[in-house]
Amino acid sequence: MKKVLLAGNWKMHKTLSEVKAYFEKFLKDLETIDLSAKEIMIAPPFTALAYSRKLTEGSPIKLGAQNACWEEKGAFTGEVSPLMLKELGVEYVIVGHSERRHIFGETNELVGKRAEGVFRFGLTPILCVGETLEERQQNKTLEVIKSQLEAGLNGIKEVGGRDLVIAYEPVWAIGTGITATPEQAEEVHGFIRDFLSGLYGKEKAETIRILYGGSVTPENIESLIKQPNIDGVLVGGASLDPDKFLKICAVA
Ligand code: 13P
Repeated sequence: MKKVLLAGNWKMHKTLSEVKAYFEKFLKDLETIDLSAKEIMIAPPFTALAYSRKLTEGSPIKLGAQNACWEEKGAFTGEVSPLMLKELGVEYVIVGHSERRHIFGETNELVGKRAEGVFRFGLTPILCVGETLEERQQNKTLEVIKSQLEAGLNGIKEVGGRDLVIAYEPVWAIGTGITATPEQAEEVHGFIRDFLSGLYGKEKAETIRILYGGSVTPENIESLIKQPNIDGVLVGGASLDPDKFLKICAVA
């Protein structure tokens, strides 16, 4: 069964003492919700991964990283390898987040290398795609998504029994309080599903989870998750607050 994936991306937030306080609250409250059809992932900054693993050991929480290199080791100052992440118990790695693309200049090709590397090391990439407001206004949304998917998945020729996740995060919806309407999101999610069918076959494409991200809140989660091609969410701001993220996990 395809479980709904509720993923929190903490971005560059939380010191270790804040991490401790968060999990103390979140783990206790998490016991009150039925997780049989849900998977919960949190991606703390690199500095808090080991500590987060320790605090969440034995809990249903899966650990994610916010980026990774494609090599095992070497002269790549500032980078972290998939092997190092695996050693910490990381299972998911976000690649190609719009902040990586737009603030740090990561290209479609670079993102593709990261996705392939993460996959090769046995971790699950969460490949992020999304158009800017300008691109949407120029009716280029699907064209942009297509080229991000083509380059992003270029190195992943076959998925087999492995897991792969795509996150649609319209840039104009990230951190702005403006969420895509469920219909806007569903249109792009349907397009992504068709693209995946073309690449990996229809049966496999149905098993790949496509998340929506961009100003997800406890208030709007219900209408988003009802859409046939929305299989989960990637939450930024609201995942920083244990009460809000718990509500999202409870409602989804
Ligand atoms: P917000 O939920 O803060 O809009 O961020 C979304 C996001 O970028 C998740 O990766």
